[in-house]
Amino acid sequence: MCLVWGVEITLHVCNHQFFMLYNAARLGSAPLEHDVPYSDICQIVLQKVINKWQELWNEQIHNKLHNVKPVIANWPTLPYRKADATLTRLRVGHTRYTHRYLLFQEPIPMCTSCNIPNTVDHILTKCPNFNSHRLRFF
Ligand SMILES: [Zn+2]
Repeated sequence: MCLVWGVEITLHVCNHQFFMLYNAARLGSAPLEHDVPYSDICQIVLQKVINKWQELWNEQIHNKLHNVKPVIANWPTLPYRKADATLTRLRVGHTRYTHRYLLFQEPIPMCTSCNIPNTVDHILTKCPNFNSHRLRFF
């Protein structure tokens, strides 16, 4: 959580780009000639930060997470921590099944019918082995 001119930024903005943006906004500030309600300033600043963040995120087309979450906004959370963690792992494509090879120095798990690496995206959306499951559950 960060504080920008008194506005709490509760979004997950912990990267270098955010701090560059924050510093640019802070250094470019000028005294106001008219009284403006504090809450209005906070909303405007927060919206500008979010807009700039979205612009930067829109340029990250080669980031694999961009396809998963193209719009910067909070995901709805599930009331159960374990289910929420599982859903997040599926969203980002990092599961024990697909990534355990990194921990145990094993070969990449391959799809036996498609002969390509097994990924969450492949299993959930592409592999013909799971067509019947897709039709049943989606
Ligand atoms: Zn497959």
